[in-house]
Amino acid sequence: MNILVLNSGSSSLKFQLIATDVDRIAQERDERLCRGQIERIGGEAIIVIETRDKEHKKFTASLPDISASLEYLVRWIVSDESEIPEVRALADIHAVGNRVVHGGELFAESILITDEVLKGIEECIDLAPLHNPNNIKGILAVRQVFGPKLPQVAVFDTSFHQSIPEHAFLYAVPYHLYRRHHIRRYGFHGTSHRYVTDRYRSIRGVTREQTHVITFHLGNGCSATAIRNGCSVDTSMGMTPLEGLVMGTRSGDIDPAIVNLTATKEGLSLHEVEALLNTQSGLLGISGLTNDMRVLLQELEDHDDRRVRVAIEVFCYRARKYIGAFLACMGGADAIIFTGGIGENSPSIRQRICQGLEWAGLKLDKDRNEEAIRLEKQITTDDSALHAFVIPTDEELLIARDTVRCIEGNTVASQPQRSSKLEELRT
Ligand code: ADP
Repeated sequence: MNILVLNSGSSSLKFQLIATDVDRIAQERDERLCRGQIERIGGEAIIVIETRDKEHKKFTASLPDISASLEYLVRWIVSDESEIPEVRALADIHAVGNRVVHGGELFAESILITDEVLKGIEECIDLAPLHNPNNIKGILAVRQVFGPKLPQVAVFDTSFHQSIPEHAFLYAVPYHLYRRHHIRRYGFHGTSHRYVTDRYRSIRGVTREQTHVITFHLGNGCSATAIRNGCSVDTSMGMTPLEGLVMGTRSGDIDPAIVNLTATKEGLSLHEVEALLNTQSGLLGISGLTNDMRVLLQELEDHDDRRVRVAIEVFCYRARKYIGAFLACMGGADAIIFTGGIGENSPSIRQRICQGLEWAGLKLDKDRNEEAIRLEKQITTDDSALHAFVIPTDEELLIARDTVRCIEGNTVASQPQRSSKLEELRT
């Protein structure tokens, strides 16, 4: 099957076309036919596509909305120029897998999209007002371009974390806030945490029940997840992706009283303070320079800038603090897994995070760590009691595979899961 994977943003559309099916999944022979993104939708859009041969093609076109962008993309895919002989017509694209940010408590698994499912995704808009509406627009654009019969699947950033128990997902605020407004920890980056956990199982040849790991997705957004018996039991992001680790421009954990204090002292509205915590904080906020870790590391090497150094220290210290907390919560783990742009590419950050964890049995192997750039590798010595691995993430592949599984009926729910247990909890 040829699966089109879509990630629809407010003015961008990221995509991949992946050939896969049940047999290919079993043999890990999925094939990426092309990938890329369309940016600045709504004006003169920029389209960048990487072909199967890793050639980069760049175009511009006036694309008013997501439907027009999708149509442009599909027209290119079926053209001779794409050099994808498997896909010569619309009918050669067999399904679409959509990344959907928030599934609330309704969606604990990926799901075939029906009108009822679409309604469920709409119900979650309150929880992700910036993201779910764009994801819905993407789904509707597919219906418009391909017609309503093409199977579409929704894969949620939140669903992997629906296994988190009540004592870890509830905030200690008045219970009616949970009941009335669904205020609780949801967690994000679920597709990435799940993907690297699945890879870890394959690499180590362990069963789901034997999988006890802490996964770190360190990109522009950063999160850590405690995984016990193969299931997420706690995660650093919360009600929104603002909580937890220090990120490129997001603060992560802060004292909630800072919000009011900052608003009063700086003469800002609550919305403005929230924007400041989301877009002006984190690595950018402390360093005053950039949110880009690669640039910060270079700056540290070239000029030993104090604020750059402290930004990196705060980033790594916070990550290490979560390792300690999660080890305690889980009763120990077998491995820590690093992924995302920083996690996959930066031996120096991994080394700083793992520093001083010998007490937990983690012995970093310097050479292995240096070698592990964008590849799957154990970076601890063989006699470590707590291992560390680098495992590059591939969220699009997981979305494509989930799409196949949903269509083949091998998993999952066919309608939103209005769990009676959760209904009960809220009463
Ligand atoms: P996103 O969360 O937007 O998908 P990525 O996962 O691509 O982002 O991660 C982006 C981050 O990864 C940036 O901070 C970037 O500087 C960092 N990064 C990429 N390559 C390196 C590198 N070689 N060394 C350190 N950081 C890197």
